[in-house]
Amino acid sequence: MYIFIENSVIHNFELVPLVFELSLRLRPLPLRCSHSDCASRNIIKHGKGRRKNIPDVQRYLCKTCGRTFCDRAGTPYYWKHYPAQIILTCLDLFYNLNTPIRKQARLVPQVPRSPSHRTVMRWQRDFALFSTRLKDTKLDSSPTWRGDECYLRLGGRRVYQHAVLDSESRAVLSSLLVRRKSQYEAEAVIQWAHERTERFPKVFISDSNAAFGAALENLGLEKTVTHEVVNHSDGFRNPRGYDTNLIERFWGTFTEWYENPSFRGFKTWENTHRYCETFDIYYNFIRPHSSLTLDGKPATPADTAGFKHAGCWSTLIGWMRNNLS
Ligand SMILES: [Zn+2]
Repeated sequence: MYIFIENSVIHNFELVPLVFELSLRLRPLPLRCSHSDCASRNIIKHGKGRRKNIPDVQRYLCKTCGRTFCDRAGTPYYWKHYPAQIILTCLDLFYNLNTPIRKQARLVPQVPRSPSHRTVMRWQRDFALFSTRLKDTKLDSSPTWRGDECYLRLGGRRVYQHAVLDSESRAVLSSLLVRRKSQYEAEAVIQWAHERTERFPKVFISDSNAAFGAALENLGLEKTVTHEVVNHSDGFRNPRGYDTNLIERFWGTFTEWYENPSFRGFKTWENTHRYCETFDIYYNFIRPHSSLTLDGKPATPADTAGFKHAGCWSTLIGWMRNNLS
């Protein structure tokens, strides 16, 4: 098999060392013992482990508990027989390019061999499970938030994705996939955004759905938070200049991903929930936002909200392994 990369044609066997080399660079350095009951930072290198289909793994010895572990332990690559580069490419294909699972399996370099679509599905599932621990990570927020819900279909039924976005950083502060859209769900997303940012906004913008107004009242915020309602009949901008463009754009990106045909095949209530949370993680931590820059470079919402390890899957995975349990 020949592959075309940046104007040069290379053969599959030349690709193998290339993918291995890249995978070595993507490997996060463990800073603590991977055994969750220990998590000691007193670790030393302990030889290399040979693997048939992936680059050799570095082994470590924990001097506190005496157990050993490899540098893939505690990451979504653990027990996977493929280089990190291949697994991360599939993540990008799914969240960034909305690529069907079977097509993902065909598109990644066949190193050591082509993964089956079931294998790719398992990578996606394991990554979604791993990344849920990131959803409570603290983010800074501005005084203006926007809340809304979006109608989706799941298993032939109507469901709603609720979300609260920060106006300045564009970060999704909280989201919730539920079967109803009442004030209780609106209250829950506002409360979760509050737990994550440790503040309430001064201005909360929503459409004419009464749920957010009632939720702010239930939370005792009607005097401290100004609720700005934007009626769609006003052309999406109210007389005081507030609009819902930001959240409508987010729904555009979200539904384009959610409606991708391959995703329909494995949507159950439980895993859709997790994939939607992982989409928020992709949106907050990986995807550079066209209107955000930091030091002249395109930035992610998380960069703008004060999180220092965003912008790339492998950095994020390394940080999660060493800092979250
Ligand atoms: Zn240990």
